[in-house]
Amino acid sequence: MPALSFLDARAAVINRVRDARLPPIAESVLLEDSPGRILAEDIAADRDYPPFNRSVRDGFAVRSSDVPGRLRVIGEVRAGERFRSILQSGETVEIMTGAPVPEGADAVVMVEHTTRHADGSVETDRAAQFGSNIAPRGCEARDGDMVLPRGTRIDFSSVAWLATTGHSFVSVFAHPRVAVLATGDEIVPVGDRPSAHQIRNSNSYSLAAQVRRAGGDPLILPVARDDKQHTAHLIAQGLEADLLLLSGGVSAGKYDFVESALADCGAEFYFDRVLIQPGQPLVFGKARGKFFFGLPGNPASTMVTFELFARAALDLLSGANDAPLPLTLARLTRPFRHKPGLTRFLPAQMSCAEVTPVDWQGSGDVPSICRANAFLVADANQPDYAAGDLIPVLLK
Ligand code: AMP
Ligand code: MG
Repeated sequence: MPALSFLDARAAVINRVRDARLPPIAESVLLEDSPGRILAEDIAADRDYPPFNRSVRDGFAVRSSDVPGRLRVIGEVRAGERFRSILQSGETVEIMTGAPVPEGADAVVMVEHTTRHADGSVETDRAAQFGSNIAPRGCEARDGDMVLPRGTRIDFSSVAWLATTGHSFVSVFAHPRVAVLATGDEIVPVGDRPSAHQIRNSNSYSLAAQVRRAGGDPLILPVARDDKQHTAHLIAQGLEADLLLLSGGVSAGKYDFVESALADCGAEFYFDRVLIQPGQPLVFGKARGKFFFGLPGNPASTMVTFELFARAALDLLSGANDAPLPLTLARLTRPFRHKPGLTRFLPAQMSCAEVTPVDWQGSGDVPSICRANAFLVADANQPDYAAGDLIPVLLK
């Protein structure tokens, strides 16, 4: 199987999962529990927004043709009220932000641009444009306009729209179940005291955290020994879930049994190498109708390959319409070089559009990733970067 570039591998994951997925089942949740979930229903405007011509300033509602000038104040309108008569030429109504503009008025003059006279009249020396400081009825959305299509991930703005349109309960897709299967004879449970040549299992927990953050429901399986039968037995359990994530055992070592155990379970493989570091020996395929990823076992490789590939699959299996990769550009604070040939995802600290690489000792170095809040993305064809160069960054 040929090694794929990072972008080709991502496209392969997205296309395969998009083509094969079935819509997940829907469930109803409280509005306040809905952020992070994927909408299972379309949410259209239930009336015009704003529902009336709304003043966006505190001031005076006027006929724009009357100003500059001095006007008689015939009343006041606050948010939540309606002014009942029609404004005539020479008249004004004091108005508060959020209040409906009285009929007859076509502009609002800001209170800061007016003077009040002793006789109660109000004067402004400024002209007003037709419509100024007014959000006209329906300018944000018309009754029936589609604002949030099914498949949208609910965030703080979409939850505001759900509240605005009266949804105290929201129909969302059920979380996909994601089995997490670590492998390796050297891996011991977190509560054990490892002997000198053993390592505590961290990948199951980082993956479960990443799964949960991406909207999946993780199920941690027992660690598979470096033994084909034992691995295949646990893979069969993992394939009961909606997605299976394995870590370790996908390199070319004599005791790397994951691919052959998957093959014994009837797996079809779409790729097993991607030109990235960390994470080169990444396996993606399908068995018994379920997608799986064989993620390389080094902790940084596991974390990075999840974010780049498995997360996209999980987004789509969650019912999301798309699987965006949130790359941004930042300026390097210092020169930086790497060996060309692979796209590298290296721990970095990013703030205010500036990024600084964090020293790290390679794919096993978890403390360095803990010190980072991002991964900078070094181009496979660009070995040298100068301070001030723009470089893509994947936020952690
Ligand atoms: P592998 O991909 O199985 O060759 O593992 C690569 C490296 O990652 C080895 O040094 C492993 O000890 C380490 N490793 C594999 N699985 C885990 C795990 N679950 N938790 C922490 N480290 C791991
Ligand atoms: Mg191993």
